[in-house]
Amino acid sequence: MNIDPSIVLGAIVLLLILVVAGISFYLFNRLEEIKQLKAANEKFIRSFNDLDEQARLIVKTDLELNKAQEELEKRLQGLNTLQKFSRELSKTLDAKEVFQKINPAMLTDLGFSRGIVLSYDEHKALRPRMNIGFPDDRLVNIISQINRDEHFKTALKDGHTFSSINSSKQTKEKIIQLFATEHFILTPIPAQNNMDGMLFVGNRYTSPAVTEGDEELISILANQIGQSLENTQLFEQVFRSSQMLESKVKERTKELESALEKVKLISKQKSEFISSVSHELRTPLTSIKGYASILIAGKIGEVPPAVKERLAKINTHSDNLVKMINDLLDIARIESGRAEMKYLAQSIKPLIDNIADLLTPQLKDRDLNLQVDLPDNLPDVCIDRNHVERIFINLVGNALKFTPAKGTITIAAQPNSDTDTITFSIADTGIGIPEDDLEKLFEEFYRVDNEINQSVKGTGLGLSLVKQITEAHGGNVWVTSKVGTGTTFFFTLPTSMEAATKSSAKKET
Ligand code: ADP
Repeated sequence: MNIDPSIVLGAIVLLLILVVAGISFYLFNRLEEIKQLKAANEKFIRSFNDLDEQARLIVKTDLELNKAQEELEKRLQGLNTLQKFSRELSKTLDAKEVFQKINPAMLTDLGFSRGIVLSYDEHKALRPRMNIGFPDDRLVNIISQINRDEHFKTALKDGHTFSSINSSKQTKEKIIQLFATEHFILTPIPAQNNMDGMLFVGNRYTSPAVTEGDEELISILANQIGQSLENTQLFEQVFRSSQMLESKVKERTKELESALEKVKLISKQKSEFISSVSHELRTPLTSIKGYASILIAGKIGEVPPAVKERLAKINTHSDNLVKMINDLLDIARIESGRAEMKYLAQSIKPLIDNIADLLTPQLKDRDLNLQVDLPDNLPDVCIDRNHVERIFINLVGNALKFTPAKGTITIAAQPNSDTDTITFSIADTGIGIPEDDLEKLFEEFYRVDNEINQSVKGTGLGLSLVKQITEAHGGNVWVTSKVGTGTTFFFTLPTSMEAATKSSAKKET
């Protein structure tokens, strides 16, 4: 069978077309697959890159974390060291000790191997106070260079901290050259209004660089040193002024003691003088009085009345003078402790009644009323009766003198069990005493300048005697008064032997 070749050809062509189409289809499919694979591959590479990036980030973060942790640990250790240092500083009030506490171990704990503290002395000269790791000649050179560098000193005074991480290249090089230290911090030690000095710390070039944390720590350290120095200065000031005060007090006490001795001596001499003069006066006075009496009595012959009258005046004046001399003698004797006091426990009432009786005629004459106002069960007083009588006579006598007619004089008493004393008061409704005169009233011969005193004679010794007798009994005397209203004198007397002899014991010491 003959097959038409065109058919065969057609078949072959068709077959070929089919094969080509099949191959094309296959190839097309493969190509699609390759494309997909490529896309998947690219995606994979992208994810891989992402992962790689993340891994790098993690490593970087980890490194940074480690670094931060290291820094944190360093800071913690630094703070710990500062805390210990602060505790040590609080134990001292001596500037030298403050500097001694900055030692190599402490610097090492803060991460430094070298350090210098410079501070100003009282002449404003910069002095080395602490030096770790610097030879002496370099230290001298450092101080002289800093002294010369005004710009540098001003910056420090303004509170600027220089460090190898914050300084300009030029400054950094200058400091490195000066201290021969590559990693450094130089900070001022602040004082209240100024700068006390400066603190330098550093490491040689092989060590790790300083950090901002280090700067902070060293600034805190410098502040602590400044604060401590201020405390020591304050303490020194207080200590010095208290010592000065103490020595001044001692000096003044000595002066006062010697002044007191002098006063005692003068007072003794005064008493002795009064005593001897009074004795000398008493004898001729007694003779004068005696002769006057003989003449008045007409024992030598009849004397005319006019002469008699003069003689009577001589007699009265002599009596007054004798009384004055006796008072003076008593004051001098009691003041010098030479008067013998016979203290006896007794009731005061009979003594006061006796005085009232004694003064009754005068009270009547002057139309005055005397009230005795003593509480029941008044304790006994421990007194020398004769002397205490004179207190009452003088005070009631004065009240009589200075109270106008129809007035009242009141004697009252108030026991004080806590001091074993009785406070007596003698009050009148008289002319009163001006305030300015009150404090001088108990001085010898002091008399207030008033109308009554101009006409009535007096010595100004009565109150002085009252004071001496009261004090000899361990008591006090004081007065309150209002002009035109009246005066009250108060005095205390003892109710026990111990209270009575209080002042004699004082005199003996
Ligand atoms: P003299 O009575 O002899 O003057 P005193 O020492 O007893 O001396 O008294 C001193 C002065 O105190 C008196 O001169 C008088 O001025 C004043 N004085 C004393 N007691 C009273 C009184 N009760 N009222 C007013 N003045 C008084």
